[in-house]
Amino acid sequence: MKLTHNPHVALVTGAGRGIGKAIAETLAADGHTVLCVSKNPESCGAVADAINATGGKARAYPCDVADPAATAKTCEAILSEFEAVEILVNNAGITRDSLLFRMSDADWSDVLATNLSSAFHWIRNLSRPMTRKRWGRILNIGSVVGRAGNAGQANYAAAKAGLHGLTMSVAREFASRNITVNTIAPGFITTDMTGKLSAEQCDAIKRNVPLSRFGTPADIAALADFLTSEEAGYITGQIFGVDGGMAM
Ligand code: NDP
Repeated sequence: MKLTHNPHVALVTGAGRGIGKAIAETLAADGHTVLCVSKNPESCGAVADAINATGGKARAYPCDVADPAATAKTCEAILSEFEAVEILVNNAGITRDSLLFRMSDADWSDVLATNLSSAFHWIRNLSRPMTRKRWGRILNIGSVVGRAGNAGQANYAAAKAGLHGLTMSVAREFASRNITVNTIAPGFITTDMTGKLSAEQCDAIKRNVPLSRFGTPADIAALADFLTSEEAGYITGQIFGVDGGMAM
């Protein structure tokens, strides 16, 4: 089936690398104008430049998503240039792993601010014009760890489980405005984030993945492509695992 993508303004946080980059490129290929957000101006800038160089439409907005004031300022700048952002992908995320006894307050609060509170702020700042458009797609990038937990990742798992709760609540609030809100929960995907794992850790993880391998950013972007299409308009409040069968 060929999916229908009417052109919209789309924003992807963490678009500078990995999963966010793949989603930004996919949305640009669908004909959307893609606003690429990352902390480092070089990474979102390079992705936006590459999209523009290949005939797509993109802009870079460097912003620390863990900073609510910076996020509000960026959203203000965006909404002074664009009537609305109709596709919002909350993807930016970090890990600060350690066992609970050793986890510092900063490790806890940095992960909660970057992976969970940021999604709340982007949704709150951008949703009013989206509701006026009576069409919208919000995707939050969760994790298999938000469903099952993981030793050494209490902060990360709490943030990702929180995203799932945010998704379901906002889906109920925005349904009457024709805005769908869903979570994609990836398993282990080959990116810089998992590049930190040792070969032994990777082998141990693969033994727990029924499909016996890591996924790719393109695996996540394929579902984002569908969930942002017209055809996905009756799907909201859901959590979709793209995890090689880890969370069955
Ligand atoms: P990467 O580390 O490869 O990329 C993370 C992106 O997020 C970068 O572009 C980075 O910006 C951006 N980012 C991080 N912190 C901030 C911040 N404070 N402000 C703005 N941008 C920020 O991660 P992945 O692509 O692997 O992960 C993307 C999402 O998918 C995350 O939410 C992650 O938790 C989730 N996920 C990943 C899995 C995996 O196995 N890789 C598994 C399950 C979920 P910059 O380029 O400027 O550094």
